[in-house]
Amino acid sequence: MRIEIVTGDITTRHVDAIVNAANSSLLGGGGVDGAIHRAAGPELLAACQALREKDYRDGLPVGQAVATPGFRLPARWVIHTVGPNWHAGQRSPHLLRSAFDESLALADRLGAGSVAFPAISAGIYGWDPRVVARTAIDAVHEAETKVVQLVEFVLFTPDMADVFTAAA
Ligand code: ADP
Repeated sequence: MRIEIVTGDITTRHVDAIVNAANSSLLGGGGVDGAIHRAAGPELLAACQALREKDYRDGLPVGQAVATPGFRLPARWVIHTVGPNWHAGQRSPHLLRSAFDESLALADRLGAGSVAFPAISAGIYGWDPRVVARTAIDAVHEAETKVVQLVEFVLFTPDMADVFTAAA
């Protein structure tokens, strides 16, 4: 599996799937979640609302992942995962790792050859970016995926890209 580290806006990436650092409600939020909803269009919110009503009445649990179409995005799918919120006392490294593992496994099941990840939990959710980067890189190295061949880490700032480059 190839890893690329890119500085930029994940919503512009021409990959099969982009991962959204969502919150449990799946109904949009700030940061990368807000950017993805704006770029994908209102159809994305409608799809997320339908998922909530059908399968996740109590919200998507931390560390799990679910997919929707990408609608107006170049990416065919959005994989929504919920990273742990450090500020809310969610400090288990396993939950952070699970967000990456579950997203990669779901991408593989979808048949996505290329996947882009943001720095899950390293923004509003307050995890140390170095821990996020290490966890992300380990998850990719240890993934038992068959279809995914390219993982891009798309970091919004050069500083975050440096942290991921150091971890890689
Ligand atoms: P979380 O709540 O999981 O911490 P955030 O969206 O607050 O998620 O932040 C995760 C990371 O995504 C942060 O480093 C933030 O700067 C970055 N980010 C925000 N917008 C974008 C975007 N359009 N593309 C890629 N990364 C983004």
